[in-house]
Amino acid sequence: MNITIFGTGYVGLTQAACLAEVGHTVCCVDIDERRIAQLRQGLSPIYEPGLEALLRGNLAAGRLTFTTSAADGVGFAKVIFIAVGTPPDEDGSADLRHVFTVADTIATHAAEAKVVINKSTSPVGTAQRLKAHLDEALTQRGHAFDMQVVSNPEFLKEGSAVEDCMRPERIIIGVDGAQDIDLFRELYKPFSRNHEKLIVMDSRSAELTKYAANSMLATKISFINEMANLAERLGADIEMVRKGIGSDSRIGYDFIYAGCGYGGSCFPKDIQALQRTAAEVGYHPQLLEAVQSVNRRQKHKVFENIHRHYDGDLSGKTFALWGLSFKPNTDDMREAPSRVLLEALWAAGARVRAFDPEAMPEARRLYGDHPDLRLVDSKEEALDDAHALVILTEWLNFRVADFGLIHQRLGDKVVFDGRNIFEPAHLAREGLAYYPIGRAAVG
Ligand code: NAD
Repeated sequence: MNITIFGTGYVGLTQAACLAEVGHTVCCVDIDERRIAQLRQGLSPIYEPGLEALLRGNLAAGRLTFTTSAADGVGFAKVIFIAVGTPPDEDGSADLRHVFTVADTIATHAAEAKVVINKSTSPVGTAQRLKAHLDEALTQRGHAFDMQVVSNPEFLKEGSAVEDCMRPERIIIGVDGAQDIDLFRELYKPFSRNHEKLIVMDSRSAELTKYAANSMLATKISFINEMANLAERLGADIEMVRKGIGSDSRIGYDFIYAGCGYGGSCFPKDIQALQRTAAEVGYHPQLLEAVQSVNRRQKHKVFENIHRHYDGDLSGKTFALWGLSFKPNTDDMREAPSRVLLEALWAAGARVRAFDPEAMPEARRLYGDHPDLRLVDSKEEALDDAHALVILTEWLNFRVADFGLIHQRLGDKVVFDGRNIFEPAHLAREGLAYYPIGRAAVG
């Protein structure tokens, strides 16, 4: 099948590479010329395990092409995906400017009926608005053909995007009226070999499903963080509590790790957008509000521990920081807890030596010229001349640490852990003070 995808970010590019890998022919369109030039050389502009290999293989096989020409993209296929960003607007609602720009582009260049599939996370009613928008634009241009608009929200996770795309747990197809969904069965057949993964519903339910899923996951995180803060005050250990509740199959172990809060491009913006949607229909979403405010507070938690340890005086202190990305296996620093901490440390007069396995270019882009930040090449180098160590991302290779070296290099022999990757008793034996989340501090 010929497919066109508008947007070559985490969603569009991964989807394109996976659809090409199973044999479809995919044309990717982006307005970012540098990105397209890079992609044509087989270089991925984002870090995602396995993505670059798929990109190169399918580029070489001629199943993947990249262009900045919207006309070429629209002409290439009957099936067109929209996978552009839907960032927060000033009032927190989803800014659909890019989605509607793509719709206008399709209406401008289409010479036949198309199936327009919206993968961008968009508020309830967007597919219906897109359909009306396209119909009006086509009527103005004197075209008689009809566009089908489908909501097909994406559930991939950054860090395992390729795996999630290749083995999706479900594929939500939101269609209105009595529409033929055979096209979707054929499109997604390679990803649903063992059992039917398509869940077909109306477009409004599909759109709400995406927001509901992200809100549920964020709720789990804020819930466990609330319990962690209580555990600290009550002399309980959140790691024990996590194991205790996770073993209940109704609760499960996923997404109940206490830490320094969620970040990334999706949870914060999608929950905010759903709050705006609720307000528009006169509903006050109390739970969503609480989830957001618990998370905002949690992002300051590590700084509060640092502040308390140093009695509020951080001037002249240097902190080694392990982890800048909002979670492991990604270079994405959007809404990352590291950004809150960096800015708080600098405001308090401290300096930072930071290392992340993948997010260094992004950190350089965001803060490269900050006088109180030194970006270094390894986790060990971050410890040089530092007083304390802070861990904010649970990258696998941070989990095994040379505590002897940490003890030797840190001036103040103290570790602040925003992800609970170490055992408090172990660090105490090594002569290090240790501040985890939701567990008693040692030292
Ligand atoms: P992104 O910011 O990484 O990429 C968006 C791309 O779209 C950019 O390359 C941009 O240049 C391009 N673009 C913007 N306007 C365009 C236009 N008119 N024509 C062609 N290209 C254009 O975004 P993303 O993270 O891939 O997210 C895309 C959508 O998918 C968002 O709505 C997001 O909420 C949703 N989503 C993201 C994830 C995730 O983990 N990142 C997961 C599920 C859903």
